[in-house]
Formats: sequence, C-alpha cells, structure tokens
Amino acid sequence: MALCLCASKKGAFLFMPKKCIICAAEAIYAIKDSSESYCQECAEEQFSELDVLEKIS
Ligand SMILES: [Zn+2]
Repeated sequence: MALCLCASKKGAFLFMPKKCIICAAEAIYAIKDSSESYCQECAEEQFSELDVLEKIS
C-alpha cells in the first residue's frame, strides 16, 4: 500500500527541527495534537489566544 503524500511529509517532519509553518523561523509554539508550529511573532498574529498553543522546549 503506497503512502500518501501527507504521510511521507509527516514522516520527514519528525526528523526536522520544529519550524514556523509561516516564516520558517525557529518555532516556539505548536498547536496541540497537531504538527503545525509557529514562531512567537506568527503565533501572536494568528491566534488572539495562545491557549490553543503549546510551548515547545
Ligand atoms: Zn513565523
């Protein structure tokens, strides 16, 4: 059974340091139960409440 593109992408993501999905800067926050991560600046821009985010490291 062939892997879909999103599965291979997710696999590759595991071997990479977390980066902001918007500007590719080092990520500080990640969405809970998701692989999406954001730097401080973009997190504040995207989310009025940082409650939905988890701080990385
Ligand atoms: Zn960013």
